[in-house]
Amino acid sequence: MSLPVEHALTLRLGMCLRPPLLTHDSGPGRRWVLYLQGCARPCTTECLNPGLLDPAGGRLVGLDDLRLVADQVVTGQWGAVEGITVLGGEPTDQAEALHPLLSHARSLGLSIMLYSGHPLAWFHRPPQAAARRLLDVTDILVDGPFIPALADPSLRWRGSSNQMVRRLTTRYSDSDLEASMAVRGVTVTRRHDGVITINGLQDRDHVTAARERLAESLAAPANLQEG
Ligand code: SF4
Repeated sequence: MSLPVEHALTLRLGMCLRPPLLTHDSGPGRRWVLYLQGCARPCTTECLNPGLLDPAGGRLVGLDDLRLVADQVVTGQWGAVEGITVLGGEPTDQAEALHPLLSHARSLGLSIMLYSGHPLAWFHRPPQAAARRLLDVTDILVDGPFIPALADPSLRWRGSSNQMVRRLTTRYSDSDLEASMAVRGVTVTRRHDGVITINGLQDRDHVTAARERLAESLAAPANLQEG
């Protein structure tokens, strides 16, 4: 008996899955943050996450494993979690496998925040049906390429002023988002696989400074990701 196609789906992640990365700096509330590996059409030569560009990098994780972690996240065993934020890499490059995970997370009551280097209009072009389906299960979309000339370190949750934080559902009001964005902070996490993540910094100079200070204070960090 063959399994339904969906069971064979995998996502390529730029990080290990367990324990899940949880931060307060990547959207409203405390969130499970997933970095997807691979960006087929880099939007900038100054990407803050160069380690996530290689579509063959990272590790493949089965959809069932990811669903299981979502189930565990909502039990509260890692504390209260508001939602899931998907960054990259370019998440839409893996739209077909990502959609069932986001649908499942949403059915559990988690809110969904999605990043893409593509502007919203790109999703509505006829060839992008799989990416467009992601919007059906997304509460907040941060869209558009990072443009260094428009970089603004005072922005929250995005790096350049062309990028927009868009409410796609009524789960959050504008004032909810404004209140969440007013909370400033940076989360640095060192994981058991040696990866250090920095969430909440959007400015390249600040990221470089943080990288250098971490390199001084920690023995040869294996990898860094920022979002
Ligand atoms: S910012 Fe996102 S879309 Fe742009 S190059 Fe980096 S990973 Fe790719």
